[in-house]
Amino acid sequence: ESRAAATRAAEALGAIRDVIDENADELGRLDSIAGDGDHGIGMQRGARAAATEAQAVLERGAGARSLLVRAGDAWSDRAGGTSGALWGEILRTLGEALGDDQAVTAAEVSVGVTAASDAVRAYGKASVGDKTMVDALEPFANALDARVAAGDSLSAAWVAASGAARQAADATADMMPGLGRARLHGEKSLGTPDPGAVSFALIVETVAPLLDT
Ligand code: ADP
Ligand code: MG
Ligand code: MG
Repeated sequence: ESRAAATRAAEALGAIRDVIDENADELGRLDSIAGDGDHGIGMQRGARAAATEAQAVLERGAGARSLLVRAGDAWSDRAGGTSGALWGEILRTLGEALGDDQAVTAAEVSVGVTAASDAVRAYGKASVGDKTMVDALEPFANALDARVAAGDSLSAAWVAASGAARQAADATADMMPGLGRARLHGEKSLGTPDPGAVSFALIVETVAPLLDT
């Protein structure tokens, strides 16, 4: 029911904070190769703010929708950087696809993730192949949608989609950046995956075992 969904969402945001803390140095290193090196620190600021806000909202008795919307606002307010704005967009858009009162279904989550993928592309104007987080998010959303439509549980569909996100994030190593600052340093990034695609894969892999429906 709704309280359980909100509790799981707050737990997931706590686990995201922890996995980003553990990987912040590596994410910063990846971003320093063709970017400005702040992806680890920005993701840490955003994930910490989102987890703290989620816990506070949960303690006031809110449902999954309000919790994710408020956590998204906290993430984008505190993170700075392009990825902070995009993660705020992802959490808010996913939240808006859920109810506060009803149980959360696999179909609602899948629709919300597809909407989040569309929102990121609308906001950032990146396409698949530009070497951004879109290259992990879009295959994740497509795989989740296909598996939920085929009748998988949310948990099983999310595990499969996380595998697709990880493969796609690894594959960004062979891409040249298609937009933004990194375009100027494109050849330097060959052989190195996109930091935002890597952090996306880490996050969805971390959430997978927390879903039990
Ligand atoms: P900044 O680029 O502002 O320093 P971060 O270092 O935190 O922000 O995040 C960089 C990541 O953000 C990139 O690796 C990429 O995945 C993602 N990103 C950057 N620009 C875009 C965009 N226009 N659309 C989608 N993702 C983007
Ligand atoms: Mg950066
Ligand atoms: Mg920056």
